[in-house]
Amino acid sequence: MLIAALLLAAAPDAAALRTMAARFAPTDVSADLSRLPGSEKAALAKIVEAAALMDTLYLRQAWAGNEPLLLRLAQDASPLGRARLHLFVIDKGPWSNLDQDAAFIPGVPTRPDAANFYPPDATKEQIEQWVKTLQPKEREQATGFYTVIRRTPDGRFGWVPYGIEYQDQLGTAARLLREAAQLTQQPTLKKFLLSRADAFYSNDYYDSDVAWMELDASIEPTIGPYEVYTDNWFNQKAAFEAFIALRDDAETGKLAKLSAELQGIEDALPIDPKLRNPRLGALAPIRVVNLILASGDGNHGVQTAAYNLPNDERIARERGTKRVMLKNVQQAKFQKTLVPISKVALAKADQREVSFDAFFTHIVMHELMHGLGPHRTAQESTVRMAMQEAGSALEEAKADISGLFALQHLVDKGALDKSLERTMYVTFLASAFRSIRFGTNEAHGKGVALQLNTLLDEGAVRVAGDGTFAVVPAKIKSAVEKLTSAIMTLQASGDVGRAREWLKQMGVVRPEVKRVLDKLVGVPVDIEPRFLSAERLLGSREAR
Ligand code: ZN
Repeated sequence: MLIAALLLAAAPDAAALRTMAARFAPTDVSADLSRLPGSEKAALAKIVEAAALMDTLYLRQAWAGNEPLLLRLAQDASPLGRARLHLFVIDKGPWSNLDQDAAFIPGVPTRPDAANFYPPDATKEQIEQWVKTLQPKEREQATGFYTVIRRTPDGRFGWVPYGIEYQDQLGTAARLLREAAQLTQQPTLKKFLLSRADAFYSNDYYDSDVAWMELDASIEPTIGPYEVYTDNWFNQKAAFEAFIALRDDAETGKLAKLSAELQGIEDALPIDPKLRNPRLGALAPIRVVNLILASGDGNHGVQTAAYNLPNDERIARERGTKRVMLKNVQQAKFQKTLVPISKVALAKADQREVSFDAFFTHIVMHELMHGLGPHRTAQESTVRMAMQEAGSALEEAKADISGLFALQHLVDKGALDKSLERTMYVTFLASAFRSIRFGTNEAHGKGVALQLNTLLDEGAVRVAGDGTFAVVPAKIKSAVEKLTSAIMTLQASGDVGRAREWLKQMGVVRPEVKRVLDKLVGVPVDIEPRFLSAERLLGSREAR
């Protein structure tokens, strides 16, 4: 009884919920559809409709109680009910992403680390023990991206393919993607849509992941089970999401230039030469797009500005991965959060150096760097499998810090403008406060805290008497190089114990950082996108 009373007492009221929601600045996100031919616009409407179904699937994956709770909230027309529904829709569940996943609706449990991927009565250790008893082929299924673990009728563990577990929504999504494939005139898009529809039934995503890598079309759809962050036990199970976007050809061309530099960067990585990959393989595609709709795992809490897929190591090894940058989302974030943050967090001289170009170029480099550095450990496991729940934060920190290393390398060899040398570190520093505000319970935030604290300890970032932060130009370059080396070498070692210890010690918010965060109260943490283009597409469909 006492616990229930405490939960109720702690549950935020309507005003508090509105304050929490206001941390996300409502922002229109749209793209120019006017140059799209009728066939493609019609196909796009079907794809957007399929993408919206990923919301339902993600809710179900994150927690078994999400769907009934959403139904209940939708029926509550009181101001409190409306406010709860609004925040539930932002966070895709009753836990606030920005508040260490604190529950904001009374009576719900703590967020389950196992999500809805494992039996609710199982422990992590039991699953680990069970997996050890399996033959290699079975183990591959049990630990794979596209199965959930359930109890068999006799009470033991077994796996269920996504194609069966989620067949209701996946069947509808497959039908819509096939209809879109009939409408489009673009062959590579048609191929992706048909093969992805097949994968929703067969549970074999390989062919459609390859088709996604080879997409060369004005419409850039990403739809299916992808990221593993929702599985906080093992980072193994993929959550459903979609990003439907239009390609920005001019920007894509500019960025392809950076891709040509990748092998040179790999060869220069500050690690044991044996750990470098002498042949990175074919040039991996990079796309700059303008987002039309994000859904599921791709649209909760803090919005995704860029992604690097697929996660399947087979494809990563064979052809690398594809990077997609959501330019209109990045611009919105820069304007609504980063500029105001820099005015509070940085010393006056540093504020002037904050630039969208540096912000954008570093995000591009971050995405590229996910494909570089060690991906297998000395024990012949993948880094992702070896590092378990510590893997995501470490990998994000690697991409950030080695991204700075790579940009400096390109400035030094004259491939990038010298002015970047000043703007990129300062912009990264402002951006670090933006990330840590997301919470250190989340991979990106924890990874950034590790970096910022290390740079402080190295004297590469200093805090002035008034609490503002500044880059120390004389020290930043070597500190970035040293940290890049430390993270990559740890990943290659596969030493999960040391990774956990390091993150526990360094992935935290220190008092001097906290003081800045406290001053950022009035600055939005992120955007709450309103997908106007998608709404228009769906609206015209309903009117037909
Ligand atoms: Zn990343």
